[in-house]
Amino acid sequence: MGVKVVKFGGSSLADANQFRKVADIIKSDEKRKFVVPSAPGKRFREDTKVTDMLYSCYELVKSGKDIKDQFGKIRERYNGIISDLGLDLSLDKEFEEIEYCLKAKSGRDYAASRGEYLNGIILAAYLGYEFIDAAEVIYFDDNGSFMLDKTIEAVRERIKNVECAVIPGFYGITLNDTIKTFSRGGSDVTGSIIARAVRAEIYENWTDVSGFLIADPRIVEDPKVIKTITYKELRELSYMGATVLHEDAIFPVRTAGIPINIRNTNDPSAPGTMIVAEDNSEETSRNTITGIAGKKGFCAINIEKSMMNSEVGFVKKILDILYKNDLSFEHIPSGIDTMSIVLSAASLEGKEEAVLSQIRKEVDPDHLEIEHNIALLAVVGHGMYKTRGTAARVFAALSHARINIKMIDQGSSELNIIVGIGESDFEDAIRCIYSAFIDSAE
Ligand code: ADP
Ligand code: ASP
Ligand code: MG
Repeated sequence: MGVKVVKFGGSSLADANQFRKVADIIKSDEKRKFVVPSAPGKRFREDTKVTDMLYSCYELVKSGKDIKDQFGKIRERYNGIISDLGLDLSLDKEFEEIEYCLKAKSGRDYAASRGEYLNGIILAAYLGYEFIDAAEVIYFDDNGSFMLDKTIEAVRERIKNVECAVIPGFYGITLNDTIKTFSRGGSDVTGSIIARAVRAEIYENWTDVSGFLIADPRIVEDPKVIKTITYKELRELSYMGATVLHEDAIFPVRTAGIPINIRNTNDPSAPGTMIVAEDNSEETSRNTITGIAGKKGFCAINIEKSMMNSEVGFVKKILDILYKNDLSFEHIPSGIDTMSIVLSAASLEGKEEAVLSQIRKEVDPDHLEIEHNIALLAVVGHGMYKTRGTAARVFAALSHARINIKMIDQGSSELNIIVGIGESDFEDAIRCIYSAFIDSAE
């Protein structure tokens, strides 16, 4: 019989009621043998995720403050779930040890990881599944890079005689025994690794929306669900801010050809989104674009110098400056006498003056400035290359909404069109492109 790996996000495990839904989903299909939980997320809009409460404990200790109140709240969240579920389980020993380690400054990643660790113990007890600590099987090297082969081997060895297990998401251990986490949202990555290791027939990623939507539901009202999407398209969209699935969750399953199915814990009968290697479905051949996503928080270094295109080594000098300042860039659109470097504003913080003065010294530009508050927007779809006029439709929609385009970049794969716009136009831009392509396709 095939095996399914199921990952449940924070909102799917935010309280006892959500735990019951999760157990019903798992028990309704006996193939759902390996479960990867996140830490309890928000129960309502203004609520705080346990992971964020743990980060704040770490910050309190760092600044010499007491964590009694904050840690007490974390304890309450878990004890509330345990008692509402009527479980005969006490985490007092774990709480004591964790509070001790937090006070002893056991590290930021250690602090954050305890959210998944504790939730995993509760979920395992509730399901009657074995609990496998991620620190036993998920490995990072001493530079903090994830070790796929060693991890896969360790998971396979550990589950040899295990039928069903809960393995907490988000963290693992380094070769020198320190707890390390993936970046935020990283339980998605753990789920994908486990799916690969157990040779799952499918990796189900259960969240609080009925699949990957064409645009962010917090911006576009009631956007349509994407029924099928390729790994490549999804990676573009998640990299550009559609955070429903961590961008690194693709790699482990991609080479093994294991599909990912995004599902809704609060609406389990909805089919959700299938993420596959190749998509030949009818739906995609009808729709030119698959999805729209974007992010704020970029800036552009604009350099102007007459005849720069014929000056050998001009771009190299600029790239060397970025390299020396440990800066990576997103895009470099260029013209005959101009080039812009678009990069994240956070990465440039504190380095602006140094970078500008080095550029002045190295290439003596006619004009040099930094433009702030730029948002990038990606229109993604593998159907785009076949359809003439897609870019024209994007630009027409933006111009119709009186949105000024600062930069355009079309990936060489013709899978996406990226535009740079002012941050204040961001939401309007997403809405107008959505309605140009989707509403008009009805
Ligand atoms: P989980 O806690 O289950 O991992 P996340 O909060 O990480 O869930 O991801 C789900 C959320 O992603 C949704 O509630 C939604 O607000 C947001 N989101 C952003 N862009 C999209 C999109 N294109 N499709 C679906 N959800 C999106
Ligand atoms: N709990 C972690 C976070 O909030 C990991 C996850 O939810 O995937 O980022
Ligand atoms: Mg997530």
